[in-house]
Amino acid sequence: MLTCRIHAKEDLRIEDSALPEAGPGQVLIRLGAGGICGSDLHYYYEGRNGSFVVREPLIPGHEASGVVAKVGPGVTRVKPGDRIAVSPSHACGQCDYCREGREQLCRNMRFLGSASIYPHVQGMFCEYFVMGERQCYPVAADISLGEIAFAEPLAVALHAVNRGPELLGKSVLITGAGTIGCLTVIAARLAGARHVAVSDILDRPLATARQVGADRTIRADREPDALAAPQYDVSFEVSGSFAALKSCVAAAKRGGTIVQVGTIPHEPMPFVVNDVMAKELDLKGAFRWGIEFDWAVDYLSSRRVDVKPLLSGQFALQDAVEAFALAKDKTRSTKVQVVAA
Ligand SMILES: [Zn+2]
Ligand SMILES: [Zn+2]
Repeated sequence: MLTCRIHAKEDLRIEDSALPEAGPGQVLIRLGAGGICGSDLHYYYEGRNGSFVVREPLIPGHEASGVVAKVGPGVTRVKPGDRIAVSPSHACGQCDYCREGREQLCRNMRFLGSASIYPHVQGMFCEYFVMGERQCYPVAADISLGEIAFAEPLAVALHAVNRGPELLGKSVLITGAGTIGCLTVIAARLAGARHVAVSDILDRPLATARQVGADRTIRADREPDALAAPQYDVSFEVSGSFAALKSCVAAAKRGGTIVQVGTIPHEPMPFVVNDVMAKELDLKGAFRWGIEFDWAVDYLSSRRVDVKPLLSGQFALQDAVEAFALAKDKTRSTKVQVVAA
């Protein structure tokens, strides 16, 4: 079967590997669609994602849907032929954080397609892979495997909103109009935000943000004044840009909240923290998700949200290099997926 591996910076190979087997409690899954995420792009183009460095060949991919091919002994949650969303989070379920209900902070987390620990936890950009049944979410609804693969990034956006305060009646700023930014627009509207503004430095992502419900879009590079005055109750910094975080602080009303969602480059940065004090800002982080994956699957299955405007293209696994190139070009794409041929 075909397997996509990142060996080092800009060295992605499609290799042949043996079909894995499902043991007790495990499920053999044929890849449906796998979304290329910002972190996959960082691993491929930089050989690292923030502080996580590729130290051995890494199969990328943590946003996937699939079809159950075989089940191991004792599996009851899914059966062959089921279409599923795959949760890439393998928390231990036993540490203090897991027991507090914050599995994304698990001390023993094994998150698929991530170099956060060594040996790395391999991802899902391969024809077949094996998962524990707990990670399989059957989706009976008549939605495509491409849409089901949005469960993971939608969970990220739902978790970001869940980390902030109640949004009913609030004005919201989202910096960054990529997949997560647009999904955060959708999540903020689900949560009742009164006004949702989105900033970016490219036109295409902003047009997509409008399509999924943004009330206002701002070209941060051309309209600096638009983000200079305090006017937002809650900001979500999704772009991973330090300049955008500074805009969030400037644009926050007194008593406002800023949720950091994007991965900011792993280097020291000068930061005027005084505003956090003087404006009584709440500065919070949102990392991955916990229970929100379950919610994401339900929102997709029930069609409460429509992610189709975000899907820009699908490529066969063997064309992964081409897929990564399109995914990197934000003037041409939002979410790009690889699919099993
Ligand atoms: Zn991701
Ligand atoms: Zn744990």
